[in-house]
Amino acid sequence: MIKSLFARIDSKREELVSFTQELVRIPTINPPGEDYLKCAELLGNRLAKSGFSLLYERAKNTPGDSERYPRHNVIARKEGKTQSGPCVHFNGHLDVVVPGNGWTIDPFEGLVNDGKIYGRGTCDMKGGLATAVIAMEAILEEGIDFPGVIEISGTVDEETGGYGGVAFLAEKGVFSKPRVDHVIIPEPLNVDRVCLGHRGAWWAEVETFGRIAHGSMPFLGDSAIRHMSAFLELLESQLFPALEKKHTRMPVVPEGARKSSLNLQAVHGGEAESYDGLPSPCVADSCRLIMDRRFLIEEDIEEVKAEVTDLLDELADSRSNFRYQIRDIMEFLPTMTDADAPVVKAVSASILNILGKTPEHVISPGTYDQKHIARIGHLHDCIAYGPGILDLAHQPDEYIVIDDMVAAAKVMAASTLKLLGVNI
Ligand SMILES: [Zn+2]
Repeated sequence: MIKSLFARIDSKREELVSFTQELVRIPTINPPGEDYLKCAELLGNRLAKSGFSLLYERAKNTPGDSERYPRHNVIARKEGKTQSGPCVHFNGHLDVVVPGNGWTIDPFEGLVNDGKIYGRGTCDMKGGLATAVIAMEAILEEGIDFPGVIEISGTVDEETGGYGGVAFLAEKGVFSKPRVDHVIIPEPLNVDRVCLGHRGAWWAEVETFGRIAHGSMPFLGDSAIRHMSAFLELLESQLFPALEKKHTRMPVVPEGARKSSLNLQAVHGGEAESYDGLPSPCVADSCRLIMDRRFLIEEDIEEVKAEVTDLLDELADSRSNFRYQIRDIMEFLPTMTDADAPVVKAVSASILNILGKTPEHVISPGTYDQKHIARIGHLHDCIAYGPGILDLAHQPDEYIVIDDMVAAAKVMAASTLKLLGVNI
């Protein structure tokens, strides 16, 4: 049975390429969230032809949702002939990031060259989603009788936090037992690796305050930028060295991310940047810093926050007129699926059988939709596994290797059957 299934997948290679191209040609750029319905319908219409029933869910009133940019998700469900059994769910995000500069080809053409498909979203992650679709179609076309359910969802907004996508659906129970048992997210973590989860993230905005005055007499005012620079100095002298010392048992890739990290994402002080013309002589009365702190499973989020607020309070005590405000923007806890979890074992065994190598278990430095499945859905049998090459995500001239997609389709198909309890 497995030989014939794999031969079927090989024979669907051209379909896999063309479906990926079709997905890439819909430029679902987020923000702002372009063409979500069109992309969700492309996926839904294709799966309906294989007998999947469809549910479309618009995430009304989630960040970014509007009549111009509605957040449309699709969930496709196919029950086996014998109804009872577990549910294996593949979830892919439909959105892509802006192409950015540096492309040598059209980012939305889906050019095929030298065994690769090029374009924004090929690697992250329309290629992975197409791979899951082809793998499940092959199972159905082979007429394999499976107990339980296969689901495939196409969701929005992963690149901006996933609130209108997986988080929204998880709140509705789409990613919880008993509806779903095992989840595979075909994010680009490389064809021969299993991604167990991700580090945590805390985003916050720190604002320092001053008092406006004439710039020729700054001593009559109070510069919020100088207050911020005092805070930045403390980050340099105290927090950054402390973060360097924190190491994790999480197998994060690349290895440089096996410690805590902090990115100072943006600083804005004084006159707004959008002004047109010459600057006016004013002392800055406000300065804002956006911080992106990534933390480890060994760290407690309250301690992570206290490391920052302690420094701010230290300045409030020692520096005259230092006033600040800190505002949480978003926070996600680290998550790491157990290496003995069924989905990890099934996919790892399939990689070994099909690619002939023991897969590396890795952790992603950045978060992805697994956070919502763990936190809201309380479902912990979840991994990321997909054919894209991690380093190419969000880069110019992004591509995916077609051979990797075919191999990953076999891994996905074999793993699904194993999780559904079909003897292969
Ligand atoms: Zn992605």
